[in-house]
Amino acid sequence: MLILNRRAVLGAATAALVLPAARRIAAQTAGAPADLVAADPSYPFVLPPLPYAAPANEPHIDTQTMELHHDKHHAAYVANLNAAVKDHPQVAALPLTQILARLNELPDSIRTAVRNNGGGHAYHSLFWTVMGGKGGDPDGDLAAAIARDFGSFAQLKTDFNKAGLGQFGSGWAVVLVDGSGKLSLGARPNQDSPLLDGKRVLFANDVWEHAYYLKYQNRRADYLAAWWNIVNWPVVAARYKAAAAGTLAI
Ligand code: MN
Repeated sequence: MLILNRRAVLGAATAALVLPAARRIAAQTAGAPADLVAADPSYPFVLPPLPYAAPANEPHIDTQTMELHHDKHHAAYVANLNAAVKDHPQVAALPLTQILARLNELPDSIRTAVRNNGGGHAYHSLFWTVMGGKGGDPDGDLAAAIARDFGSFAQLKTDFNKAGLGQFGSGWAVVLVDGSGKLSLGARPNQDSPLLDGKRVLFANDVWEHAYYLKYQNRRADYLAAWWNIVNWPVVAARYKAAAAGTLAI
């Protein structure tokens, strides 16, 4: 295994931060359709464009919220993540999934910034792609998996909305998918990504106030209910297929 130079900067505990892992991940994600399944970003991190016009989620998510959320909030996570890793080439050499999964190997001085801004970049990069759709019901293998693991799609919506409503303060409601296609539900505070635990997100909804406050004010439950109307199920289905194939990046 090729150990990176200047490992002393990171300390002996980080000796496992090696380039081959980055190359392996890149190879795994090379076949994923980039327009449907967000690729694994790497330094320098860039703000991905919205895959649709900002008004596409009207009236459920208003245009101004989409613009501020993407152009300001997500952009800030990207800028702050770049700033955090720019003087740490061993970290910057890794794809984002590896940076997050190996957070505890990072220097203390950047760990919190990477957790918050790297998590934010990962979450929002997938968040935009799973919206912009027509809502309705999932179908095919994804619908079957939802019925198997949650009882029904209606039950998933109920449980997901409850998770999002119950997340105190800022955070995310998430549906996780493992390599066998099994789905599970959760909520995470702040920008804590399941990638920190090496887990993959099938889809997620942002319950930070910046995601809904202009239109819904304190009515997070109304936002959660409305959000299902703009879910892009073909993209979620592509993510589900990628997860089973081991090619789902973030
Ligand atoms: Mn957000």
